[in-house]
Amino acid sequence: MNELQLDEFKTDENAAMVLLVDDQAMIGEAVRRGLSHEENIDFHFCADPHQAIAQAIRIKPTVILQDLVMPGLDGLSLVREYRNHPATKDIPIIVLSTKEDPLIKSAAFAAGANDYLVKLPDNIELVARIRYHSRSYMTLLQRDAAYRALRVSQQQLLDTNLVLQRLMNSDGLTGLSNRRHFDEYLELEWRRSLRDQTQLSLLMIDVDYFKSYNDSFGHLEGDEALRKVALAIRDASSRPSDLPARYGGEEFALVLPNTSPGGARLVAEKLRQTVAALKIPHIAPAEGSSLTISIGLSTITPQQGSDCRQLILAADKGLYQAKHNGRNQVGIS
Ligand code: GH3
Ligand code: MG
Ligand code: MG
Repeated sequence: MNELQLDEFKTDENAAMVLLVDDQAMIGEAVRRGLSHEENIDFHFCADPHQAIAQAIRIKPTVILQDLVMPGLDGLSLVREYRNHPATKDIPIIVLSTKEDPLIKSAAFAAGANDYLVKLPDNIELVARIRYHSRSYMTLLQRDAAYRALRVSQQQLLDTNLVLQRLMNSDGLTGLSNRRHFDEYLELEWRRSLRDQTQLSLLMIDVDYFKSYNDSFGHLEGDEALRKVALAIRDASSRPSDLPARYGGEEFALVLPNTSPGGARLVAEKLRQTVAALKIPHIAPAEGSSLTISIGLSTITPQQGSDCRQLILAADKGLYQAKHNGRNQVGIS
């Protein structure tokens, strides 16, 4: 907070806006005169009790001085009305009564008044009470505003953390999960499969002749091709628990929890065909070829004492076979 803002803050805190609701103009005049020399006190007078709520909403008083006996509308009912209206419910109310009567006093406090004065009060006392109630009301408003601001910044922090989490887990080029997230996820699913004794499948996917693709079309075209392959892999994973990831370079992985070898083979074969059907022009293995992928597949039901590297090694072995047997195919290990 700079000095200017600090000054504003101080001035606001000490400023009072008084609304007097009384049917007698004489009382209005007397209070006006009493407050006229006070610094920072604005005074408004309302002689018609039926206009009181509307006027209070308009001028936003920090204190209401409320007469009890008025023609046509009982002052206590009005106090209750202020309390029931969202715009006036917290504004301090000082009831101005004609007499010092314990019954009226207790009724006034029960209706929601904050203070009780007998008309016409001594000016020093009136000013002191106006300042006291006004300041506590301003403090209340400031506290509420601070809480609201705090809630907003807490929500912003949560949103930022979510975005950060997503960024931390995703690969910049393709938007798939990155290697870090893949490692975490596979470890988690391995342990779950061990517990539940279910089948965990993994696809290791490698683009065929990609070095020569880069060499012929350039790295930017290469990146574009990787994005297309990534999109096909994302589309191939249909269950919420499937995790497509970029393993590194032009290699991808697809974790398929609770999936049998038959099911994983179906996914792999469909993915291989989808990429081939993209017909991304390539010059390898021959002029006029299309870009293809090779896939290694393995399915394991984890046993006690084993770890998930076993699954990666097995899928890698399948991939090696697929490459060795001519590429653009699924190798199962
Ligand atoms: P194979 O059919 O046996 O898989 O041959 P390959 O050429 O695809 O395999 P190799 O491992 O020799 O080459 C992979 C190439 O992938 C080399 C590298 O330049 C390229 N590459 C890796 N990451 C990226 C990337 O982020 N963008 C681009 N454009 N190219 C990449
Ligand atoms: Mg390759
Ligand atoms: Mg490779």
